Amino acid sequence: MPLVYIGMGSNLSEPALQLQDALTAMNNIHQTSVVQVSSCYGSKPMGPAEQPDYVNAVAALETSLSSMALLQALQKIELQQGRVRKKERWGPRTLDLDILLYGMEIINEPDLVVPHYGMKQREFVIHPLFEVAPDLTLPCGTSVAALLKCIPHNGIKRLPYKIGNHI
Ligand code: ATP
Ligand code: CA
Ligand code: CA
Repeated sequence: MPLVYIGMGSNLSEPALQLQDALTAMNNIHQTSVVQVSSCYGSKPMGPAEQPDYVNAVAALETSLSSMALLQALQKIELQQGRVRKKERWGPRTLDLDILLYGMEIINEPDLVVPHYGMKQREFVIHPLFEVAPDLTLPCGTSVAALLKCIPHNGIKRLPYKIGNHI
């Protein structure tokens, strides 16, 4: 079974609760379980600045679903938790679930690119990913530890509360 890493983010309607509910929902996906969850991290918005700060975390899943079936299940959870897709890129959202890695697979479909195209440059992905998988190396051969060392700093903060204790 591939180990799948999901990047989670929210900046609306009680972000930490959104992530907590998303963990429960991901654990309830058919043939899928949440096996690890990082701490929550507070981060500044990447897109338009006039929006609340984000709460981000990374979860590791075991699944026997295909990558496309998993993407569909994640998008369903985003919608169930009130995600509204607008034209504006990187606008505020109740929940964003990105497939960062699907085992060591490289996927280049119109609707699914894995490893996630932005993950190597995003502090709010690399910090929580390093926390759950400090020895992980990406399919391109770069280690998460090396990415952590060279990533630009934009004020990420590890938050004092933990989600996922209920899983
Ligand atoms: P970004 O992708 O830069 O993080 P975003 O998460 O705000 O921005 P969305 O609006 O959530 O972008 O997603 C746009 C599309 O990205 C989705 O409809 C989905 O088909 C596609 N997509 C491609 N690769 C992935 C992936 N690895 N995980 C999730 N969605 C993906
Ligand atoms: Ca995203
Ligand atoms: Ca997304």
